[in-house]
Amino acid sequence: MATRIAAASILGALCAVAAGAQQKGVDVTSYHFTITIPDTGTSITGHAQVRFRAAAGYDDTLRLDLVGMNVAGVTDQDSRKPVPFSYDGKSIRITAAGLGFHGVVVDYSGSPTDGFFIGTNARGRRSAFADDWPNRARFWLPTIDHPSDKARVAWTVIAPAGWRTVSNAPQCVKAVAVAACTESVQIPTYTMVIGSGEMTVASHRPAIVGHDTIPIEVWAYAEDSAFANDVPFARATEIVETMSRLVGPYPYSKLAHVESSTRYGGMENATAIFYAEDPYVKRTMKEGVVRHETAHQWFGDAVTPREWAHLWLSEGFASYFDLVIGAALSGDSVLVNGMKADKAAWLEANVSNRPMVDIFEKDPNKLLNANVYPKGAWVLHMLREQVGDSAFFRGVRAYYKAYRDTSVVSAQFQEKIEDASGQRLGWFFQQWLYQAGCPKLQVRWTADTAAHTLQLSVQQVQPQAWGRFRLPALTLAFVMPDGRTERRVITVLAQNETVVTLPLPGPGPTDVIVDPDGTLLVVSTVLR
Ligand SMILES: [Zn+2]
Repeated sequence: MATRIAAASILGALCAVAAGAQQKGVDVTSYHFTITIPDTGTSITGHAQVRFRAAAGYDDTLRLDLVGMNVAGVTDQDSRKPVPFSYDGKSIRITAAGLGFHGVVVDYSGSPTDGFFIGTNARGRRSAFADDWPNRARFWLPTIDHPSDKARVAWTVIAPAGWRTVSNAPQCVKAVAVAACTESVQIPTYTMVIGSGEMTVASHRPAIVGHDTIPIEVWAYAEDSAFANDVPFARATEIVETMSRLVGPYPYSKLAHVESSTRYGGMENATAIFYAEDPYVKRTMKEGVVRHETAHQWFGDAVTPREWAHLWLSEGFASYFDLVIGAALSGDSVLVNGMKADKAAWLEANVSNRPMVDIFEKDPNKLLNANVYPKGAWVLHMLREQVGDSAFFRGVRAYYKAYRDTSVVSAQFQEKIEDASGQRLGWFFQQWLYQAGCPKLQVRWTADTAAHTLQLSVQQVQPQAWGRFRLPALTLAFVMPDGRTERRVITVLAQNETVVTLPLPGPGPTDVIVDPDGTLLVVSTVLR
């Protein structure tokens, strides 16, 4: 998601529910939710068909997360017979021993306290929108609510007359109950959504992705429709085509961009991206959030971090590909200026004491910080510099192709980049993912005009707890007395001080500029 406009509200609205973990030995393969949205009030009724695979020896109890609803009954999906269960208001425990079934139906009702919001939208009309990240699907959908257990989803939505409903599944957009229709690939529960209300729907030019044609729609409140189509979504099709060309085919069969009540600036629900309504109403919404959320369809939705600690595989990639797409469509300055802004944002955010892959932080909401967004983008940018454009994009494409529709950790990305580049990159991933902070360099030099040499000392003065960083190619620009600039590339070792002696053709430089092109996430001072 894009959090920049909503960071405070995210941090202020932590739900008390601990992040669930995948249930050992159980893999949900599909959900079919039938949801009835009431004409008045906020009480929904739900009918959930949950199909799963159980490995031999699993602990004989299926546990589905569902918080604060009333559960009327659970039945075996195949025999239609009631199944014993217990419900404590947080999870449904279904005894599966001996029954041999692999599908249950849960009937439930209630007013969700989170995850699904029925209320008045920014244009004063009643509407309903889901908002599930990171573990809030459980407030209205019985699920194994963790990104390690992706599943297919189908929706049947019964909504008030005159409403239009968008969901993850294609062609499920009617105002009355419709037959089961499903997105045919597995997605994480945090992107399983519906949105419903009086919406204006515009069709954009379909994206051509290889041999396929992907319909693209913009759903907005009537007052905001023209703005949405003309400004932030003007190049919605080009964005999908650019990602398809750079990374691989779009992973799903359609894409809808939806104005909604999400708490996030944008939320990358698979095939139905929800955006905050305020920037539409204020007319401040720009294309960047659309590029970011569209990139998430590949990274986050199709290739999903298996553990929250590896969230940068979603947010860092979306942040970087936002800029990469921007550069492809509008020129390199989008990437150059975006990386500068990301560096400033990370330095300002005061999160440098935590590593980007933060295995000790268990609350996914707290992981939505500047380490996974701007630093995540920087790690990809430096990796691209390290291995070169060709190997970088070959590695990214191989990673997407291998792990599409699954969940991964960072080591799987590292392996694909190592294969593509022929380089061993353990040192790179170790220092940028698992060490906190970045190098803080202090550069000193002494010119020995008699010996025609320049002695450089590069000290790493960041806190010892951050560790020391290896920089195989640090560019230095020497400003000479006659105004010329001479460039040299040196290797900084992962130790407190690196001393380098360079030949000195003439008099010593008057100044030294560290990393003049801004290709590294380093902070530097130059001392005489
Ligand atoms: Zn994002």
